Amino acid sequence: LVRLRGVGKSFGSARVLTGIDLDVRRGEVVVVIGPSGSGKSTLCRCVNRLETADEGSIEIEGRPLPAEGADLARLRADVGMVFQSFNLFAHKTVRDNVMLGPVRVRGLSRADARKRAEELLERVGVGAHGDKYPAQLSGGQQQRVAIARALAMEPRVLLFDEPTSALDPEMIHEVLDVMTALAAEGMTMIVVTHEMGFARKAADRVVFMAEGRIAESAAPEDFFGSPQTERARDFLARVL
Ligand code: ATP
Ligand code: MG
Repeated sequence: LVRLRGVGKSFGSARVLTGIDLDVRRGEVVVVIGPSGSGKSTLCRCVNRLETADEGSIEIEGRPLPAEGADLARLRADVGMVFQSFNLFAHKTVRDNVMLGPVRVRGLSRADARKRAEELLERVGVGAHGDKYPAQLSGGQQQRVAIARALAMEPRVLLFDEPTSALDPEMIHEVLDVMTALAAEGMTMIVVTHEMGFARKAADRVVFMAEGRIAESAAPEDFFGSPQTERARDFLARVL
């Protein structure tokens, strides 16, 4: 579904990604971990074209990423993204936040978009809050709205960049529960997280990044049980 070959990215003279090869199959959950600055966010941002990779190729369902225009809007719809900072529209209600994309990009009628929004808000456990504004919700609730908003576009793949890092501990699990349910339902997901419990439980594969490269890629039981590189062992010793 998602295929990266030899992807590289520099910011000026700083090399951030080097030779990234990654395949994500339909329904697969790939958890990306690694030290701060190893390029995890940049990798996600290249996949949905918030950044442009300057080497290599990225394909979604066999099609190279579009450069701009209408195709780019469709790409953003197909590749959903959930950020650390929920990025909801503050001046729109929760329901409108979820309806906006489907109406504007997918061309749904307001009635259909509203129905879909209600269903999704229910599904992520905030069905009672559709009329509220984001600031009236807790961080965990806002992040679940952000997930509902991403799902409303019926994306082919969902990217999560540290979706729980900005949350108080008691709110982390309610977001991880939603993500675990999505994973179990077969959603294709790339998840950058420091939540090793989630990685163990929900990942089909763990990708460990260091200095802009994929240092290891393995099933969670293999990665956590017997990491192959010194860097991964060091990293795990610090986070576990
Ligand atoms: P963290 O765990 O802290 O989120 P990360 O693995 O997500 O780290 P990135 O955010 O991808 O790392 O950053 C990788 C490197 O690229 C860092 O050295 C960062 O300073 C640099 N970088 C990221 N975005 C930019 C940018 N827009 N301009 C210049 N440098 C950038
Ligand atoms: Mg990051």
